[in-house]
Amino acid sequence: DRAVEALTRLVRDVPDFPEPGVLFKDITPLLADAAGFSAVVEGLAAAGRDASGATRVDKVLGMEARGFILAAPVALSLGVGFVPVRKAGKLPHDTHSVAYALEYGEAVLELHQDAVAPGERVLVVDDVLATGGTARATHDLVTACGATTASFAFLMELGFLDGRAALGDVPSTALLTV
Ligand code: IMP
Repeated sequence: DRAVEALTRLVRDVPDFPEPGVLFKDITPLLADAAGFSAVVEGLAAAGRDASGATRVDKVLGMEARGFILAAPVALSLGVGFVPVRKAGKLPHDTHSVAYALEYGEAVLELHQDAVAPGERVLVVDDVLATGGTARATHDLVTACGATTASFAFLMELGFLDGRAALGDVPSTALLTV
């Protein structure tokens, strides 16, 4: 499939970034390739469609910063709006806020309270599922709005970290598991 081929060929492994011992998946060569970028956007958007091809979500959420790059074109492909999930202090209006554990310390993600309406169904898009902390926090923000996470969609899932366990019952698709 075109998306898997693009991911396999155009994502670069960078050892010891951002710290020693981490093998970082660098998606910038993929983003720079129009055909590859398009293939993965369509692969992600499929998670927001039903079997007949109709859009089954009301919004697409992306997490700062690489999630923005992917979620915005996915939203346009599905014909729905894009909503940013940001790091603490970046969103200007009233927010919901969720703290979650990192390997060392804690991070906070925020979502505008009025960005997702109660009862809406959202697709959450990010580049990499690692421990699942970021995705779980985003799901909790969606829940705080009274909305539902219909599905998660990732380019890549780092299978050995079992991030899926953090996502509970919410359906999750990854174009490639590494
Ligand atoms: P988690 O919260 O541990 O699942 O980490 C996922 C978050 O960290 C996502 O927002 C990713 O963008 C980022 N991330 C973790 N590992 C990588 C990587 O190897 N490449 C790119 N982003 C990564």
